[in-house]
Amino acid sequence: MNCTKCKTKAVIDLPRHNAAFCKGCFTGFVHDQVARAIKSEWMFGKEERILVAVSGGKDSLALWNILLKLGYRADGLYVDLGIGVYSEQSHAKVTKFAEAVATSHGATLHLHTVEQEAGAGIKELAQLIHRPTCSTCGTIKRYQFNRVAIEQNYDVMATGHNLDDEAARLLGNVLHWQEEYLDKQGPSLPASVAGFAKKVKPLYRLSERELAAYAVLNRIDYIVEECPMAKGSKMLQYKEVLNRLETESPGTKQTFYWGFLDKQRKKQPTAITMTEKDRAVLHPCASCSQPTTAEVCSYCKMMAKAKTVVPR
Ligand code: SF4
Ligand code: ZN
Repeated sequence: MNCTKCKTKAVIDLPRHNAAFCKGCFTGFVHDQVARAIKSEWMFGKEERILVAVSGGKDSLALWNILLKLGYRADGLYVDLGIGVYSEQSHAKVTKFAEAVATSHGATLHLHTVEQEAGAGIKELAQLIHRPTCSTCGTIKRYQFNRVAIEQNYDVMATGHNLDDEAARLLGNVLHWQEEYLDKQGPSLPASVAGFAKKVKPLYRLSERELAAYAVLNRIDYIVEECPMAKGSKMLQYKEVLNRLETESPGTKQTFYWGFLDKQRKKQPTAITMTEKDRAVLHPCASCSQPTTAEVCSYCKMMAKAKTVVPR
């Protein structure tokens, strides 16, 4: 198998693109896909400051690496969830990567530790406030990413969601007809109201397998294990189903998610825009001022409850 571009020995084949690449051409292909995503979705420009949410996994570290290699001004934010060995290992991978890019590109890593603020790690906290762990985690991560982006004056927040993540999420949203979530499934969400950072997903054109190959070929040391809380989750089930379809018909995930994006783009001019919808329902939280639909945002409610139930 030879590289489709330069005809030397290929290291990876990409059935959905009917192509194979050597290491150099594959790295170029990945960078091109990200550059195309940034341009076609108007994500950000070279002068803007980007905050990348990093978990220690392949996608987010690859994203940080690619943005810096493409010449963007990107810093990282790591939220330490306090999930035993998993958090220790992922924190160590992020720190090691951050030290390297601080030296090579002058990039900075921001850190938020759940235990420091809530008095307990995510699992214990969720149990004490009687909420599912992943929903507690989602609320905390969304809140902290937005807070740091706004407080530290970043223009945009980037996450490492890839094609597999987005296709699986779309499948879940369609299966349950969650129309409100469907509206927000695009790879670029505007800063609709004051206090909300713009959010983008520059990896939406790349699959999980492609990003794992990119990380390995470019010697990015990442945590291979998934978060232990993800075990048995609906998202993993949807990914498995889509992987089976992809094996039978390469390009299924791309056709599904990109096709959805095409339809959304055509729909936008006549529909009420997301910005208008957000402006109609969001106002500053009475406690922290971050935008919320309630009087007090769900993060502040959660922390208030944590104060009453978490032993300190
Ligand atoms: Fe958070 Fe882990 Fe659940 Fe993901 S799987 S939402 S990282 S607790
Ligand atoms: Zn609040």
